[in-house]
Amino acid sequence: MPTHGTSTVETLLDLDSLLSTEDLELRSMVRQFGEQRLRPHVAEWFESGVVPVRDLAVEIGKLGLLGMHLTGYGCSGSSATAYGLVCQEMEAVDSGLRSLVSVQGSLAMFAIHHWGSEEQREQWLPGMAAGELIGCFGLTEPDFGSNPGGMRTTAKRDGSDWILNGSKMWITNASIADVAIVWARAEEGVLGFAVPTSTSGFSAREMTHKMSLRASVTSEFSLDDVRVPDAAKLPGARGLSGPLACLSEARFGIVFGAVGAARDCLEATLAYVGTREVFDKPLAGYQLSQAKIADMAVELGKAQLLALHLGKLKDEGRIRPEQVSVGKLNNVREALRIARQCRTLLGANGITLEYPVIRHANNLESVLTYEGTSEVHQLVIGEALTGVSAFR
Ligand SMILES: Cc1cc2nc3c(=O)[nH]c(=O)nc-3n(C[C@H](O)[C@H](O)[C@H](O)COP(=O)(O)OP(=O)(O)OC[C@H]3O[C@@H](n4cnc5c(N)ncnc54)[C@H](O)[C@@H]3O)c2cc1C
Repeated sequence: MPTHGTSTVETLLDLDSLLSTEDLELRSMVRQFGEQRLRPHVAEWFESGVVPVRDLAVEIGKLGLLGMHLTGYGCSGSSATAYGLVCQEMEAVDSGLRSLVSVQGSLAMFAIHHWGSEEQREQWLPGMAAGELIGCFGLTEPDFGSNPGGMRTTAKRDGSDWILNGSKMWITNASIADVAIVWARAEEGVLGFAVPTSTSGFSAREMTHKMSLRASVTSEFSLDDVRVPDAAKLPGARGLSGPLACLSEARFGIVFGAVGAARDCLEATLAYVGTREVFDKPLAGYQLSQAKIADMAVELGKAQLLALHLGKLKDEGRIRPEQVSVGKLNNVREALRIARQCRTLLGANGITLEYPVIRHANNLESVLTYEGTSEVHQLVIGEALTGVSAFR
């Protein structure tokens, strides 16, 4: 009998034996929250493209999951592995819901926690941990995604203030955020600012017509002579290493999250092939089906092992960016392959929102692109192995 809500796919390799009792209990709690509170609504949120992010943030905050891997300021200081497992369970429901947790905790809160002043941490983090304040992370621009070093957003000194000008695109939650982490080019190099979105000259607009990550708010924002005091500048961040450190945190969550999405596809498919009859017997009884299912379960198990290994490295404080790239590249790529393969087994039913598979497949197209595209991660790994940068 599975314990801690362990799923069929998870029992194949008994990977739960690698987890502590506390981690299993946390996973079980988040899985239950996902199944009871989120899953019944997620297809509707995806279809309408309207998701109650503010309400959900407060509920998720009450569970202690926002910025959970940070210490102090209302954050619980959990292990990296525990945080990864939370991402996994959120993404088993929908990548958009995991994005909410990642962007809030790993991008916006991490930036303030890691690079901010004591005053900034006190000002923003407790409310963000509670989900009462929403943060966003503005790095990508219309013309600069994979190459953020080309950014055109500027920060210019004016007495003791800074004047920000520019625009950011594809920014999760910007149109509903209370604070935007803005990365801008200054004479000193790239700087980060915690900008209250109520500041005059800041305007954000939700981006619509997405066919992926529909249960997530994606926005663009402009900065039109936005004046902020020097106290809004993140004092610890100088150069691209500022935003890149945050991205590495969020990518780590995706390594686990993608496993959740793939697991959910495979679980749904296993249930389907057991009852769907073709040519007078269940689809599960055909060798072609079993070959697909076995291959997917093998890849899923490998992805889970990789995630847990990276979790261990991170908990030991010795994870390197190229190792996170290995995890992000492999796990998202394989999750997407699994989602597409599951879709074939569901036939026409596979394209409807009655099953989670096409929703996960569509979402994973975004996950493949954001937080560093697959190609960017190949280049990071290639550089680590050869010593030669091939970005240009
Ligand atoms: C739903 C969603 C939410 C997002 N949320 C955020 C957010 O909250 N904050 C934020 O800042 N950004 C966010 N992004 C933006 C995301 O990070 C970028 O889309 C991503 O970095 C890729 O940039 P791009 O879309 O401009 O693609 P491009 O950089 O234009 O890349 C296009 C193609 O070129 C390839 N390519 C790029 N450089 C090279 C190279 N040197 N060699 C070979 N191939 C290369 C890429 O791999 C890709 O295949 C989000 C994106 C999406 C879709």
